[in-house]
Amino acid sequence: MGDQLDQFKEYVREMGKLHAATALLHWDQRTYIPKGGHEGRAEVLGKLSRMSFELLVSPQMAGFIEGLDRPEVKDGLGGQDRAMVRVLGKEHRRRKAIPPDLYEQFVITTSKAQTAWEEARAKSDFELFRPHLEKIVEFARQFAEAYGWKENPYDALLEDYEPGMTARELAEIIGELRQELVPFVQRLMEEGKQPAMDFLRGEFPTEKQEELTLRALRAIGYDFEAGRQDTTAHPFTITIGPGDVRVTTRFHSHDLLSALFSSIHEGGHALYDQGMASELRWTGLDDGASMGIHESQSRLWENLVGRSRPFWEFFYPSVQELFPQLEEVRLEEFYRAVNLVEPSLIRVEADEVTYNLHIMLRFELEVGLLNKRIEVKELPDLWNGAMEEYLGVVPPDDKSGVLQDVHWSAGYFGYFPSYMLGNLYAAQIFNTARKEIPDLEGKIAQGNLSPLREWQRERIHRFGRIYEPKDLLKKITGEGPNPGHFMDYITEKFEEIYQL
Ligand code: ZN
Repeated sequence: MGDQLDQFKEYVREMGKLHAATALLHWDQRTYIPKGGHEGRAEVLGKLSRMSFELLVSPQMAGFIEGLDRPEVKDGLGGQDRAMVRVLGKEHRRRKAIPPDLYEQFVITTSKAQTAWEEARAKSDFELFRPHLEKIVEFARQFAEAYGWKENPYDALLEDYEPGMTARELAEIIGELRQELVPFVQRLMEEGKQPAMDFLRGEFPTEKQEELTLRALRAIGYDFEAGRQDTTAHPFTITIGPGDVRVTTRFHSHDLLSALFSSIHEGGHALYDQGMASELRWTGLDDGASMGIHESQSRLWENLVGRSRPFWEFFYPSVQELFPQLEEVRLEEFYRAVNLVEPSLIRVEADEVTYNLHIMLRFELEVGLLNKRIEVKELPDLWNGAMEEYLGVVPPDDKSGVLQDVHWSAGYFGYFPSYMLGNLYAAQIFNTARKEIPDLEGKIAQGNLSPLREWQRERIHRFGRIYEPKDLLKKITGEGPNPGHFMDYITEKFEEIYQL
């Protein structure tokens, strides 16, 4: 048995190295590659992803999983080894559940669908995308059947993003949250005092913005000896390998806040990956516990810290130094402006109060599609109806409605709830941090962010994927997902900002 475990670990280590090479090529593809290199790069990435796939479903891997992923064997393993068997075993079984021909058809379909989606979005014409999406929904249904499910086919897809989460549990969380959130947004809009925004209009030179993002990353403790920041169209964080976790951002000279909060957000993801225990290197466990937990770490830094008054007490002088046009703008005015709430059409531009409402409608549509309760052709109308009901705004066209997100064209069903869970977990985890770190707000106001970062490292980051998300959340906060913490946080903060 010891031999088999050692061989398994060696095998996974080799898989990790292939993954690292793939990651570097991906990073380059989205940052510095010259235009002419895309076609060749796609072929190389295709080859590497095929090699990874083959390693994951190989007879050798099947042998390891058969030998090790049995209760009588697993129970005798240490926590980390047991987690490796759990994580790799699940990946192996799920990849094997999809017949290679079906998977290949799926890859071809989504690749065509993404081109069609881009055109449909540019022309704001859902009909151009509809036939592609119909095929993709059919694939999603087939995949759910292949993976297997008990209560709802959607659960089978959620497993990729948030292991252990179910459609039923999400519906409960959403029901509770929506009941409070919708009237709260209405109250803010009707009775609240809107922040002034005029001083955020104008030109903010991008070199100075870059300096500001670097200062923010240094402040939160992002390790530049183990990473770097570059620019891209759609910011992301990527781990190339041990000691190399890179972030990206993008600058718009007319928008001071977008690059800054994007950098803090990606920096939050990067702190997670930089904080993993060195024993997890090349084990397949050196990643976040789930998409939702990963997102909670980025949201925690972006919103709970980055949009808090204590943060701006220490960071605002940096902004004023780099952008003298803000010299006359008081801290309090600036703080209120970075917390503008505005029901809007586009998810990625949504503020922290209205963001989850965008996710709720996507979740409900996805579950309806998977369960054949709704058809693809009904999506534009259902989308617009839900926008009006939840946010009080109606998209004037498909481009700013049902066609805005890339996810469905790539076949990512079950992905959206991670964003909402990230917001909810962030509030829940921060609530625990406040209790456990003495005078956390005071420390943040002095620019001393390391106690929070060290606390996260100790309680969350170092474990990687050792724990399932629910177990990890319980271990950190003493309870399962509880949207009450988010609602408490939002209510207290925004009643004060909007002077209610
Ligand atoms: Zn994120």
